[in-house]
Amino acid sequence: MAEYKTPLRDMQFTMYELLDYEQHWQSLPKFEETGADIANAIMEENAKFCENVLAPLNQSGDAEGCQWNDGEVTTPKGFKEAYQQFVEAGWPSMTHSPDHGGQGLPPSLGLILNEMVGTANWSWGMYPGLSHGAMNTIEEHGTDEQKEVYLTKLVSGEWTGTMCLTEPHCGTDLGMLRTKAEPNADGSYAISGTKIFISAGEHDMAENIVHIVLARLPDAPEGTKGISLFIVPKFNVAEDGSIAERNGVVCGSIEHKMGIKASATCVMNFDGAKGFLIGPPNRGLNCMFTFMNTARLGTALQGVAHAELGFQKSLDYARDRLQMRSLSGVKNPDGPADPIIVHPDVRRMLLTQKSFAEGGRMLMAYCGKLVDVISNGDEESAKEADGKLAFLTPIAKAFLTEVGFESANHGVQCFGGHGFISEWGAEQNVRDCRISMLYEGTTGIQALDLLGRKVLMTQGEIMKPFTKEIHKFCQANEGNPLIAKLAEANKQWGDLTMKVGMAAMENPDEVGAASVDYLMFSGYVALAYFWALAAVKAQAALDEGQGDAAFYTAKVQTAKFYFARILPRTESLATTMTSGADSLMDMDAESFAF
Ligand SMILES: Cc1cc2nc3c(=O)[nH]c(=O)nc-3n(C[C@H](O)[C@H](O)[C@H](O)COP(=O)(O)OP(=O)(O)OC[C@H]3O[C@@H](n4cnc5c(N)ncnc54)[C@H](O)[C@@H]3O)c2cc1C
Repeated sequence: MAEYKTPLRDMQFTMYELLDYEQHWQSLPKFEETGADIANAIMEENAKFCENVLAPLNQSGDAEGCQWNDGEVTTPKGFKEAYQQFVEAGWPSMTHSPDHGGQGLPPSLGLILNEMVGTANWSWGMYPGLSHGAMNTIEEHGTDEQKEVYLTKLVSGEWTGTMCLTEPHCGTDLGMLRTKAEPNADGSYAISGTKIFISAGEHDMAENIVHIVLARLPDAPEGTKGISLFIVPKFNVAEDGSIAERNGVVCGSIEHKMGIKASATCVMNFDGAKGFLIGPPNRGLNCMFTFMNTARLGTALQGVAHAELGFQKSLDYARDRLQMRSLSGVKNPDGPADPIIVHPDVRRMLLTQKSFAEGGRMLMAYCGKLVDVISNGDEESAKEADGKLAFLTPIAKAFLTEVGFESANHGVQCFGGHGFISEWGAEQNVRDCRISMLYEGTTGIQALDLLGRKVLMTQGEIMKPFTKEIHKFCQANEGNPLIAKLAEANKQWGDLTMKVGMAAMENPDEVGAASVDYLMFSGYVALAYFWALAAVKAQAALDEGQGDAAFYTAKVQTAKFYFARILPRTESLATTMTSGADSLMDMDAESFAF
């Protein structure tokens, strides 16, 4: 069984047939030179690297884990060499600006490439993955000198980046963070404090690590309004750009954890480390949002990655494993039993995984287009795209990781008892996936962001461009039974928003009580839109006799499955989200113990 096979055909369907990427790229001056031929060649090359180099290191990396020794971290066998190959081939620079050594390709293409890397080996992908966020932050908020010194080295991949937010007493509530930044005479700052859970905080894959750190200036206001952002390199950088002496930041230990064991999760001790302010003082959290938004989309991809990997493993197994006979008569008369793929319940699990993996890919590719428009820079279209992306990011992050985890779990179930033992990798896929619902803002926090901060604060305005797009699509495709269901769900989305909003005006706890159900409802409807769109496009291709009928037929059938068996989950979510906060809030905190 192959460790990972890149779903290139499905990726290309999503990009070119579903979302018209070629026309989209040509409409943006910054990316007009990117055509399908270039993009496909890059994807094929990346697929080879992911399948042949990264995927074979996934299980061994999990078994070996990272080792800490006196402040140094050693990554599992093969990780460092794979990273060198990755850098030599120019992969880190793909989507970054040519001004800093990048290749200027569209971010949407970068997301597709990142899905491949992440599905082949999520732990390995964390090291270059964090660097992208650091690059985007320095590019957007750094000075020219900071770009010259740090960004170019990150873009080339010679150095990697981190995101240092979390402290022992604060993860979600960053307003409480205590790390200090004292001004030095030379204009730099002395950074002191402890950060925990820092991914890729220390490792042996690159010669320097650029930490992007949140800290407080002396006399900064309390809470989130008193946080500033700093660059703190592991090694200081000499005037000529070469590596100088070690800075005062050391990895105190690494965590022993449930999954992504090959990704070093570090305690980082800053002891008067030399740091450089990025962006205006006390506006660090705003600047950090650039990093966090990149990371949130990156984490949304993790949901797709584990759904895809779970699906691939389950499908291979379900075709091979012989157990029992089909209820409707023998399907494999020459064998002692039928393959388990004949059983309806196994098909339910496989199609759930397939519909989430491919549906999630569609949602991510749609978000990728929005990122391209924002990055292209035309102010008016960027503003519109920004609004849609702000609305869709918490949905993508939380919904896709929740259903990605469900899919990974189905992966274990499809294997029966063999799923529970480590040999097949199905249990690793569950363990590796579990973190995706926690970091970059837990599902609960994303749900509050969606419903409280975005939807209700704008009185629903933020959702309108997307729900209107669905409405228009439904009008243009009336008559199809899937479309009628989509139109109904889309209308219900608006009605429920009003209802929850009204309840929230009476009692603010109603927002928190409804938010996760609301977010999941939103995710199911958003995916229904993409599955309906896929069904329409695939049916048209079949009607036109374009060839590849098996592929298009499977698309239509998966869409039908999604509407019959997944979308109805919205009915129960609509009931629970409007059931009120009382059943959650009536009990005294003490009474929980009885
Ligand atoms: C493997 C790993 C890698 C990580 N990588 C990084 C990294 O690179 N950089 C970095 O800075 N951090 C990183 N983190 C930290 C991660 O982002 C935090 O763990 C996460 O944000 C949650 O914070 P916390 O653990 O302090 O949980 P808490 O904030 O203590 O939350 C505990 C629970 O309370 C809930 N909760 C809290 N407040 C509310 C509320 N207002 N309403 C509803 N529910 C609420 C949460 O949803 C959660 O269920 C990593 C963590 C892990 C485990």
